[in-house]
Amino acid sequence: MTTAFNLAGLLDESAEKYPRREAIVCTATGSRLEFAQLRSAANQVANLLVSRGVQKGDKVALSCVNIPAFSIVYWGALKAGATVVPLNVLFKEREVAYHLDDSGAKAYFCFQGTAELPIGREGHAGFTRAEACEHFFMITADPSADSPIDGTETLAQATKDMAPEFECADTDEDDTAVILYTSGTTGQPKGAELRHSNMRDNALAGADIFGLDAERPDTFLCVLPLFHSFGQTVIQNAAVAYGGSVVMLPRFEGGSALRLMRSEGITFFAGVPTMYWGLIGALKEAGDELGPQNLERLRVAVSGGSALPAEVHREFEERFGMTILEGYGLSETSPVASFSVWGEKTRVGSIGKPIPGVEMKLIDPDSWNEVDPGDDDAVGEIAVRGHNVMKGYHGRPEATVQAIRNGWFRTGDLGRRDEDGWYYIVDRAKDMIIRGGYNVYPREVEEVLMTHPDVSLAAVVGVAHETHGEEVKAFVIRDAGATITEDALVVWAKGQMAAYKYPRQVAFVDRLPMNATGKILKRELT
Ligand code: AMP
Repeated sequence: MTTAFNLAGLLDESAEKYPRREAIVCTATGSRLEFAQLRSAANQVANLLVSRGVQKGDKVALSCVNIPAFSIVYWGALKAGATVVPLNVLFKEREVAYHLDDSGAKAYFCFQGTAELPIGREGHAGFTRAEACEHFFMITADPSADSPIDGTETLAQATKDMAPEFECADTDEDDTAVILYTSGTTGQPKGAELRHSNMRDNALAGADIFGLDAERPDTFLCVLPLFHSFGQTVIQNAAVAYGGSVVMLPRFEGGSALRLMRSEGITFFAGVPTMYWGLIGALKEAGDELGPQNLERLRVAVSGGSALPAEVHREFEERFGMTILEGYGLSETSPVASFSVWGEKTRVGSIGKPIPGVEMKLIDPDSWNEVDPGDDDAVGEIAVRGHNVMKGYHGRPEATVQAIRNGWFRTGDLGRRDEDGWYYIVDRAKDMIIRGGYNVYPREVEEVLMTHPDVSLAAVVGVAHETHGEEVKAFVIRDAGATITEDALVVWAKGQMAAYKYPRQVAFVDRLPMNATGKILKRELT
């Protein structure tokens, strides 16, 4: 049975209870929005969409960096009963075309890009064509600016005369609120359809997972892109649900993030592991000026999106004097499935336990049967069931049937569980290397390499090999000033792990290819 519920009801409630509280602080545009103002702006977008004939269930695509317009359009489209389709701001024209077409978007809001925030414009310029989408609105950083492209309506122009009141459309909790295209580090992107209830329950889980409390509102630093599930649920939606304020930083840089944490009194930081790596680097460079003594309001540090290397975790704890809560999930699970347990000591390397209302188990990828639950070393594919699991893949019934059985969603990640029920990611099933018949989990090799004092970051992949099928190869970023050679690192690695695991090939690089959410794009490493 479904009941009437709209995710944007969370915004209405907070705007009702805390109208004057700060909802968004934008570092790029300098603007600050209170909850009542955010709701009024969202209402204008809802009125705009309805006036242009957008109806319940229509898809509204949104490509925007972390500025208030993202949230305004997001909540406005939801209020109108539409389904939001957030797009990665780094997409080029061909990718935008694919997503608009695959989702069947009726309206498209796109950030124009500016000198400081150049992302967006060149990739989207072709999409002012009328045929790309029935309705197109350009988001400008400065609302008083004219449209950068002749004849294109800007968001500000289009909403100027719209009424700031709007009653939430009468959606059911089972209706699709958001379609999130999975990050696409492998294969063709598919749109995960997430219900209003999926998104609501995952945002509200913040009370259990992080101790969020509207009576003691948090100040969230938002450096995760809002178009991705992690930033959307754990920052934007959780903040709105618990009356917290979001300080938006469109582009991550360790030093600026630390400075903002201090100046804005950030209490809640969420990032991908590479951001923690950046924070540690910035702290090392800046020394005491940015030291943790200046961050005394910070109470929660969260990592997710990819594996947090044990070395990074330890070094953060040492330098910042606080632990990192690690979580795990996927776009298909809204995204949070498991987290370190609030109030319990974190276990380095663990993704924690399933959050309340969510179950996890380890299955055999072929039979879907649970692998031996009594065996702590048993590795299986992680399956998830609960309020967070998506409805299915948009327009792909076959892919949905392959992914979900009896409510259990298979994640494609290999994991194990300890005797207390804490889970550990072994690797992505797809990333596993098979060298001469032995399974090598790249993550394990990366963790070992990163314990070497000269190694800053490592990514391990399999490369084709005549006799072994695959060979283990490591791409390594060295610490500044490190002098170790590639051959010396191979010799060192040989002494650290079994013969079939250690990388026979090491390549030093200055940077590793990453997607916008900080995941290393292993398919680009050969
Ligand atoms: P996305 O759909 O973009 O959120 O990507 C989901 C994928 O990110 C998962 O299937 C995992 O492979 C990876 N992931 C997320 N959180 C973690 C974590 N804490 N440790 C390891 N991998 C993770």
